[in-house]
Amino acid sequence: MTVRSTIKKGVDYLETSSTETPFLLLDSAKIRQKARLIGRNISKAEVFYAVKANSHPEVLALINQLGLGFEVASEGELRLLLKLGVSPGRIISSNPIKTCLFLQEAGEAGIGYFAFDTRDEADRLTSFCPGSNVYVRLSVPNEGSQWPLSKKFGVELEEARDLLLYAGEAGLSPAGLTFHVGSQCANPYNWDAALDKAARLWEMAAKAGLKLNLLNIGGGYPIHYTKDVVEIETIERRIDRRVKNIFPPEIRILLEPGRAVIGDAGLFVTSVIGKANRIGENWMYLDVGVFNGLMESVGGIRYSYLSESAGPLRKWTLAGPSCDSFDVIDHEIELPEPEIGDHLIILGCGAYTTCYASEFNGFSIPRTVLV
Ligand SMILES: *Cc1c(COP(=O)(O)O)cnc(C)c1O
Repeated sequence: MTVRSTIKKGVDYLETSSTETPFLLLDSAKIRQKARLIGRNISKAEVFYAVKANSHPEVLALINQLGLGFEVASEGELRLLLKLGVSPGRIISSNPIKTCLFLQEAGEAGIGYFAFDTRDEADRLTSFCPGSNVYVRLSVPNEGSQWPLSKKFGVELEEARDLLLYAGEAGLSPAGLTFHVGSQCANPYNWDAALDKAARLWEMAAKAGLKLNLLNIGGGYPIHYTKDVVEIETIERRIDRRVKNIFPPEIRILLEPGRAVIGDAGLFVTSVIGKANRIGENWMYLDVGVFNGLMESVGGIRYSYLSESAGPLRKWTLAGPSCDSFDVIDHEIELPEPEIGDHLIILGCGAYTTCYASEFNGFSIPRTVLV
């Protein structure tokens, strides 16, 4: 299955429905394909979809139907899943710092697996979710990932071991560890470095009398935006080989993909709402911008665009509809000169777009259409 079939769905939908732009079209066939692919090349991998990538209820219902588990960070995400009837046994939370409200609701719901990386968090888990399984967030290199996550969370080896011991003394069940190599990670060596570090913690814990059994390797699998990225199969075969070499065979492996499940299954269908030439620079204004869907462009994600326009090719600065000068999506993008009202399709928009969006300046968040 290629990106073409998703684009065709977007164009067909635009032509056959009277839907106004902007909208986010999600290709359910592509989501199914990715859900089948992810985890297939790692022995005994259990896959938990990171809900924050796209928490639209229809997306969650489809992913639930496909049999994946879920990773949540907040009471809001937890409530969405419980409303869909997802069993608490298929929900984990890897947010190292959780609110008391979330912990209380997670405890009441019977969620049994949590990340942590401070003593305070272990104490809170002990009071709200007594006896639960906990895994410590290890700090690992994030070089070469588009969206580094390494500074905000994670501890070094000795502290990680001490936290696991502390959790055990507090009556929690110290199960293992987690890490995140960074989102949109194009550097397969990050997983090597992270797994090697994880294996050192495993040994240090064993020496301290702790037998760990859970290795949660987080998310980070990349998708195609404008550049080719390493295939998920390649990353997974590499991970699988290394895990077999350096961990005991009875280990449980958890994966938490977000972007890779949903990102390339989605495209924005937008309209050109204006154009201008300002001091020699061509500006094209769209009905989706930084605030109502394309926030990740600010962090360096570059998208691919398809135009239906027929004018001469020019380089454009692409901007969103709001009056804020921060609302610029991309620069130097070669596209044909549009007429006002022409459509522009933006690829790779399934993850971290609508769920990131606000109605700033009165522009609505694009509707989600799952086909
Ligand atoms: C965001 C997040 C993920 C998903 O990351 P992707 O890069 O989208 O795969 C997984 N686990 C945790 C703890 C996260 O915060």
